[in-house]
Amino acid sequence: MPSGERESATMAVTRRVAELRREGIEVLDLGAGEPDFPSPGTAVKAAQRALDEGRTKYTVLEGTAELRALLADRYCAQGAPWSAANTLVTVGAKAALYQLARAFLSPGDEAVVHTPAWVSIPAQVRLAGAEAVTVAMAAEDGFAIRAQPLIAAMTERTRAVIVNTPCNPTGAVASILDLERLASACAERGALLISDETYERFVYDGRRHASVAALAARYPDTVVLVGSFSKSYAMTGWRVGYLLGSAEVVAAAAAVQSHVTSNATSFAMAGAEAVLAEEPPESAALVAACARRRQVVLRELERVPGVVCPPPAGAFYAFPDVRACLDEACPDSASLCGRLLDEARVAATPGSAFGCEGHIRLSFACSDEELAAGLDGLVRVLGRSTGRVVSSFAAGGRAG
Ligand code: GLU
Repeated sequence: MPSGERESATMAVTRRVAELRREGIEVLDLGAGEPDFPSPGTAVKAAQRALDEGRTKYTVLEGTAELRALLADRYCAQGAPWSAANTLVTVGAKAALYQLARAFLSPGDEAVVHTPAWVSIPAQVRLAGAEAVTVAMAAEDGFAIRAQPLIAAMTERTRAVIVNTPCNPTGAVASILDLERLASACAERGALLISDETYERFVYDGRRHASVAALAARYPDTVVLVGSFSKSYAMTGWRVGYLLGSAEVVAAAAAVQSHVTSNATSFAMAGAEAVLAEEPPESAALVAACARRRQVVLRELERVPGVVCPPPAGAFYAFPDVRACLDEACPDSASLCGRLLDEARVAATPGSAFGCEGHIRLSFACSDEELAAGLDGLVRVLGRSTGRVVSSFAAGGRAG
């Protein structure tokens, strides 16, 4: 019996873009959440060295001792009580989240998830046979991740609350106060607070990222942090992610991993070790580029009256409300994304995939050129749908 779970919408958009490009059609890709920067030279060299030195065999399942120690150190600096024994290296953050779902959720269990949510979070809960109890965050609050509605959705069947801060697709973040409330509520009920902090570096306007690492000493049994090298270091294809939590949590997730992937790729871990050992300047440059591109997106979207886009606090996505652009021929976000692709060759991801109809997700991690051209086409199509586009001059000039 197939699970009935459909292909990840983000992966489907990536696949469609690749297909069109193979056919020789130029596509402006605001779909994929993938930094345009090359992976840091230090990671590449370390991986090459590892290959030359024959680091091509199985490693211990949990990941190399070096990488686990470096990861634990990083989060200890933020107040966590974690050591290498509290650390599991996984095949991307996706696998970390999935292994947690398989280890801790069973049919009859519930996991509380905020929406809009990254497509794979509720899907993975369902793949584990459990129920994803989705709780909508308020659009008028910029989709900020608030503890109170999530706690209110907990029942005696809740085994986990899963947050993603900064959030893909909204860029919304949770404050340390909200995380603290969630950690306390979860600990009281013996549920896990799983915090996916894949976008931890991407926060804007002088904000500081609030991490559950700062709460782990107070709630050592139930706080779990998930992270990734993919976005922070432009290492998407390397597939190296991780989770940190209690020794029991790590053992349970590692047991699942032992049946699914074994260790993360040996030489990819060498690259990950290198960027933790010596912070590559490319990472800060990538975050700075995203901060600049975020301003470009916000300014361009302002040109379409009726399209509303709260500035994302973090991550590298804009999630505008495009209901003003919907009509009979194009009644929902999926058909609007189809129109964008057909008429402007712009790839975007429908909000419905994230549990939030009436919005689309635009990634601004692509190059400046692709972003500028993509936004041009996007504004043209959206403007035609609403019947209006404000000239770039009236909107305050084009960003460079
Ligand atoms: N996380 C990225 C995105 O949302 C990459 C695709 C995926 O893993 O979902 O676009």
